[in-house]
Amino acid sequence: MVAEGRDVVSFGAGEPDFPTPENIVAAAVEAASDEANHHYTANVGLPRLRSAIVDYTREYSRVEVGPDEILVTNGAKQAIFQTFAALLDPGDEVLLPAPHWVTYPSGIELAGGVTVSVPTSGEDGFKVSVDELERHLTPSTKLLVFVSPSNPTGAVYTAEEARAIGEWAHANDLWVMTDEIYQRLVYGEDEAAASIAAVTSQLEDVVLINGVAKSFAMTGWRVGWLIGPADVVAAAARHQSHATGNVNNVAQAAALEAITGPQDSVVAMRGAFDKRRQTMVSMLSEAPGVECDEPAGAFYVFPNVEALLNQAYRTSESLAEGLLEEAGVAVVPGESFGAPGFIRLSYALSDADLERGVTRMLDMFGRI
Ligand code: PMP
Repeated sequence: MVAEGRDVVSFGAGEPDFPTPENIVAAAVEAASDEANHHYTANVGLPRLRSAIVDYTREYSRVEVGPDEILVTNGAKQAIFQTFAALLDPGDEVLLPAPHWVTYPSGIELAGGVTVSVPTSGEDGFKVSVDELERHLTPSTKLLVFVSPSNPTGAVYTAEEARAIGEWAHANDLWVMTDEIYQRLVYGEDEAAASIAAVTSQLEDVVLINGVAKSFAMTGWRVGWLIGPADVVAAAARHQSHATGNVNNVAQAAALEAITGPQDSVVAMRGAFDKRRQTMVSMLSEAPGVECDEPAGAFYVFPNVEALLNQAYRTSESLAEGLLEEAGVAVVPGESFGAPGFIRLSYALSDADLERGVTRMLDMFGRI
């Protein structure tokens, strides 16, 4: 539609709208002219980046790991796929609290696993309970996917909630894959969301996923990592060695600057997201038929729009289509995340576009 010249405000983006901070870009420019970066390097990642990830993980996840427990990957996505490939055997069940990000079931399926969706509700802030997990446990359950802050809901678990879930998983002999890609995008007192790996002492059955994409506005650079027991890392590394080899050296140099250089741009971006979050929630709360809680992390709101559904728009998917056609506003329907009746709006867009887009939405909601 944009290519046809239509004016569309998109709340669909899963990435910061800011450019990558200048110090990071400068480090990449310098790295590009260093011949050492023109050749293959270690598949597992540049040694200085792996060492820096040790420090970064200590600081923000509060977990002590060694460089040999780290594999640098092409974004968190590759880390997630390789974790499933390393851990799952055909028929293994994976507990996946819903609503969930769309990529996990694909990785589980490709590894021969079976996704077992575990429901959460808006009343509980979209956080899964131990009771609900217990109800979905079978002898085939192998792994739990834990995501805090969450995409698509922005839910953030407290340390106590994470601990209860981590201890339950350990007591039931399950692996936990914790995706911490949004850990620094939290809007309370804390600098980072509590890591389930830190609050449960059993590190031997946890794989931690992280990367630079969301905190440093670096989605296009494709640098993430997984941290886990040495045998899991070795298995994932064998997979990576045949699939892609080392991550682009220039991007690794940029990631190194991101996590070791000045952190003020992260603080500034988080401040901007926080302001937009509040604008978005207060505008949406005024709309009749829309129920929107204030999410504590990431850059998404996930309002319930069930009360707006009618003859013309029977599902949140058709409402999303209507918003695009009638109002020129792009949102992601809850169906994509296993949560019909909801829509996901990213607030990673400019303040002016945010207000323009929400105003158009509210106009349309007033008419249906
Ligand atoms: N995990 C979650 C929960 C995400 O939302 C995303 C991006 N949408 C990723 C991982 C992917 O991160 P990367 O760009 O590093 O592959």
